Amino acid sequence: MGKTSSKEERGGRRGESREAHQVSVRSELKEKLRTEGLRVTRPRLEVLVVLHERAAPMTHEQIMENLPNGFGDKASIWRLLGDLAERGILRRMDLGDRVWRYELIDSCRGVADDHAHLLCEDCGDVKCLPAMELRAKDGSVPSALLAANFQIRIIGQCGDCP
Ligand SMILES: [Zn+2]
Ligand SMILES: [Zn+2]
Repeated sequence: MGKTSSKEERGGRRGESREAHQVSVRSELKEKLRTEGLRVTRPRLEVLVVLHERAAPMTHEQIMENLPNGFGDKASIWRLLGDLAERGILRRMDLGDRVWRYELIDSCRGVADDHAHLLCEDCGDVKCLPAMELRAKDGSVPSALLAANFQIRIIGQCGDCP
């Protein structure tokens, strides 16, 4: 994100500094891998750190662009993402443009597990939205949705695109 003053950095989560936060994020992510029975490897950890920093769904390509140099080739990162999604560490989603995106849900974020997403058709950016429910204007729930298992995804233009 943008520039933050040192005052804001110190005022972060539980008053810890940015460096201390980075360290605790890494140990939290390592713990997450171990809990799922996965060995902690540098590529796995770096992928999780990238997703933690973005705090929104990212494509395979975006993840590759944000990894430090030399962390695996396209194919191995693709496999790694599939493994992490299978273990439930990442959520994999198709937001309607037939591109898989991956998102990490971690304790630093205030979004519910079943939250909705906005995909911007212009810049391709994805924003996490709070959990939402769908109702008719009169407050009723359409019968087709009553027992349905569905996802809310919104496609349009984000506020940053003119
Ligand atoms: Zn946009
Ligand atoms: Zn999200």
